[in-house]
Amino acid sequence: MSETLILSGKDVADSIYNNLNRRISKLIDIGVRPGLCVILIGDDPASQIYVRTKTKKLNSLGLLSDTVLLKNNINEKKVIKVISELNTDPRYHGILVQLPLPEHINSQNIINSIKPEKDVDGFHPENVGWLSIGKPRFIPCTPKGIMKILEHYNIDLNRKNVVVIGRSNIVGRPISILTSLNREWANATCTVCHSRTKNLDFYTKNADVVISAIGIPNFLKGDMLKKGSIVIDVGINRVNVDNHKGYKIVGDADWDAIYEKVASATPVPGGVGPMTIAMLVENTIEAAEKFG
Ligand code: NAD
Repeated sequence: MSETLILSGKDVADSIYNNLNRRISKLIDIGVRPGLCVILIGDDPASQIYVRTKTKKLNSLGLLSDTVLLKNNINEKKVIKVISELNTDPRYHGILVQLPLPEHINSQNIINSIKPEKDVDGFHPENVGWLSIGKPRFIPCTPKGIMKILEHYNIDLNRKNVVVIGRSNIVGRPISILTSLNREWANATCTVCHSRTKNLDFYTKNADVVISAIGIPNFLKGDMLKKGSIVIDVGINRVNVDNHKGYKIVGDADWDAIYEKVASATPVPGGVGPMTIAMLVENTIEAAEKFG
């Protein structure tokens, strides 16, 4: 039996909700019910599931969570108009636009139209800027969740070599900033790898921590890793299997192949995913506390 430690994001999220409940009660006592409005455009089944999961969680904690459903063929101008109304609606402390958007809509224009004080996803350029200079306002939920998992399991990144695979604005880029900030639990030397990286193994084999955010099932193999390293698997990939759903969710790592090699790793499901939702709840509460 291997001694690999499973970094359960689900357990960390559960412990965080205890603390968040207290903050929610305090707000409700002073007449503020933290509220989030999610905009869902089109009928992408995966997005529908994500939005339902988020809304269910927020509601179960006593937060207001509404969804605005918009048709796939809506134009950019109309989406921006909806957002500008939500920007001034006092019921909502947070606004989230579920990505990806239909191809005819420019995601950046949509993100730019969200009032930065309500941008609980932390994707608005103003919030990205605050994060980059080490004074975050809203930290994007998935990277924030990853840092909390590491902290919970006492994994201090100070002086460690961290390799991030993936450079998206949602995960790869912000986690590379967070891990290398001059602050507690961070101070890592971080390398960002991506689809154009030459000889990826060279970097991953030298990493103390590998954070994979690619979106390719079974991509990360044991022989790409240093013995005793840590893997944070962000990937959420649907693979077809012969079960009642016809599919299952797997991460980027080939779990059977990495299990014997690593000291610890986040599973999929039950790793980074539950933390992303917990951090969305936390950011919505933070928005209500700061700007409510
Ligand atoms: P993305 O498609 O925007 O980015 C993928 C990145 O992977 C790109 O930067 C690309 O350069 C890199 N990449 C692709 N192929 C590569 C290769 N062969 N070698 C090295 N790098 C390669 O995706 P994203 O939005 O960052 O999401 C990545 C994954 O994380 C997806 O599976 C997504 O579903 C998942 N995700 C999970 C959560 C969560 O809560 N767990 C949140 C967000 C995203």
